[in-house]
Amino acid sequence: MSKLAINGGEKVRKKFFPPYITVGEEELQSIKKVVQSGVLSRFLGTWHDDFFGGPEVRAFESEWASYFNVKHAIAVNSATSGLYCAIGSASIGPGDEVIVSPYTMTASAIAPLIYNAIPVFADVEEEFFCLDPISVKERISPRTKAIIVVDIFGQPYNADAINQIAKEHNIIVIEDCAQAPGAMFRDKYAGTLGDIGIYSLNYHKHIHTGEGGIIVTDNDELADKLRLIRNHAEAVVEEKGVSDLVNMLGFNYRMTEIEASIGRKQLKKLNSLTTSRIDNINYLVKGLSDISCLRPAQVRLASKHVFYLHSFLFDAKISGIHRNRFVEAVKAELMPIEMRETEGVKIGNGYTKPLYLQPLYQKKIAYGKRGCPWNCQWNKNEVSYHKGICPVTEKLYEEDLIVHELMRPPMTRADLDDVIKAFHKVWDARRELI
Ligand SMILES: *Cc1c(COP(=O)(O)O)cnc(C)c1O
Repeated sequence: MSKLAINGGEKVRKKFFPPYITVGEEELQSIKKVVQSGVLSRFLGTWHDDFFGGPEVRAFESEWASYFNVKHAIAVNSATSGLYCAIGSASIGPGDEVIVSPYTMTASAIAPLIYNAIPVFADVEEEFFCLDPISVKERISPRTKAIIVVDIFGQPYNADAINQIAKEHNIIVIEDCAQAPGAMFRDKYAGTLGDIGIYSLNYHKHIHTGEGGIIVTDNDELADKLRLIRNHAEAVVEEKGVSDLVNMLGFNYRMTEIEASIGRKQLKKLNSLTTSRIDNINYLVKGLSDISCLRPAQVRLASKHVFYLHSFLFDAKISGIHRNRFVEAVKAELMPIEMRETEGVKIGNGYTKPLYLQPLYQKKIAYGKRGCPWNCQWNKNEVSYHKGICPVTEKLYEEDLIVHELMRPPMTRADLDDVIKAFHKVWDARRELI
């Protein structure tokens, strides 16, 4: 067996992997039309027909709603903004708690803090990495107003169990579907499984508009509030005749006509992009199936997983070495993705650090210097963010989970073969790593 690259041997792969580019001529043509019209955004922050945006934004929203079979789609400038709108629309504020996942992109846990509510972290499932219903149940208190579930890596959350808990406690479910457009649970699309769903259209997601997001809901009242918060709520409530002023201070979370016009073309490509991704993963998983220390991501029953990231559980007992050592050796055999060279080889040890370990939570410093909102008079400053509160997440992060992006189209079979070869080379020569 040839010497491992990490020990000075030759790499399996010598050229970059192809970049994931989903935009082209179609998008160019639609941008051109918008630019020629001269109207790059038609939103007005006053009570007027244009309060709801221009023709591209509205068409995009209506096409999104129809694709995902949901009553309202509301375009915003990011999924982060969408999450903030969602918390605001649910009238959440000081004294309230929101159950969140520690194993996700940072914005899903921050959203409650924007409204001075307290994020309470529940643990995730060992097998699917979404919020664990048992842990969620343990974290419910009389103050709990919402659960922000995350369809992490492209897998729908456990909607049966978590929606049931929410119903029993009369709280709402906000579904962070940034990583799972097109995923399904039974006959419903992820994003529409809870009360409010949020998709991301940032550059790294399945489809994108550079930056952008979409909020969906079947609830008319929530939709109304979401649209108000998106666009300077406080300035229009009087004329619109809104009497409930809770959280009616608005932001500017508006999407431009350019992004919306790109989004409309991107939506048409979602299904085929996802299909080739899944196809690549099937090939990869088959090629790696005889490496016994790796267990590929499992798909929840009755679900379609759309693999924003692909993951493996790593068994250190079988391999005899720590995951990080194994991953470093595999990375040394491979190359970065073209145009993202500085990010290194896109294979990761355990995804994000559990969010509650960020300085923000450890020091409980958010607004000003006085520890608000945790110690404001409506909150009791009881929530714990100590290491150990979510043991499954911590173990996934520290020891068990491998995530990677080396399955995105237009990777060819030959590209995938290099990934497979690299894993095999390291597996076969693992003794060199002890
Ligand atoms: C990307 C992402 C977001 C944020 O999306 P933006 O559009 O960049 O604000 C939120 N949650 C999850 C799980 C994500 O992956």
